[in-house]
Amino acid sequence: MRRLRDRLRDVYGIPCAPPHGDPLAELILTVLSQSTNDRNRDVAYFAMRERFRTWEQVRDAPVDELEQAIRPGGISRVKSARIKSILRAVTDNERPRGAPAAGHLTLDWLSTLSVPAAEAYLTSLPGVGRKTAACVLLFSFGMRDVPVDTHVSRVGTRLGLFRAGAPFEELHDTMLEITPAGEELELHINLLRHGRRTCHARRPECGACALARMCPSAGSFDAG
Ligand code: SF4
Repeated sequence: MRRLRDRLRDVYGIPCAPPHGDPLAELILTVLSQSTNDRNRDVAYFAMRERFRTWEQVRDAPVDELEQAIRPGGISRVKSARIKSILRAVTDNERPRGAPAAGHLTLDWLSTLSVPAAEAYLTSLPGVGRKTAACVLLFSFGMRDVPVDTHVSRVGTRLGLFRAGAPFEELHDTMLEITPAGEELELHINLLRHGRRTCHARRPECGACALARMCPSAGSFDAG
């Protein structure tokens, strides 16, 4: 992993994304990112924030209005309903011991929990899976979790980091196991960049890949 980190670092540098401390925004942004690109996700997010100034307004808005606001992000019908049910659950659902009582629309208290407790709470919210939970914990608070998205999973499998065909739960466990502490963000972002720029889903550019010498899949896509 250290060799891999160093090669990725040579190509992409060390990403700089200090924890921003806004877990609710991260959670909703991650929901909006499903099945779309970063640009459309951001257009949808800012349109929503422009129209509804507070998260309470988003939660209480008619679903049609929210859907209209986030339409540029795609599958807005599904996403608007999901966002509203997540915000409702964050307000009302029982919280783990040690957290403030339910009733307020905030997730700031998550940073006081252990990673497993915070992850368990987040994945109990409607439609929130482990990748989304990891994004919230890592990007908001710098907690030790590593999101495994489609790029990280594809690149990691080709590099032999993951068992081929492993379910997402196993991918997350493995990624966490093999990631040196403190390098969660760097490895996640640089593997993702590599998946987007070189190790494409259909036609990976093995001939131009900085990782080719350490990759057991190098060149095996040439015929396709
Ligand atoms: S050598 Fe090919 S398959 Fe391996 S990481 Fe590079 S682009 Fe992906």
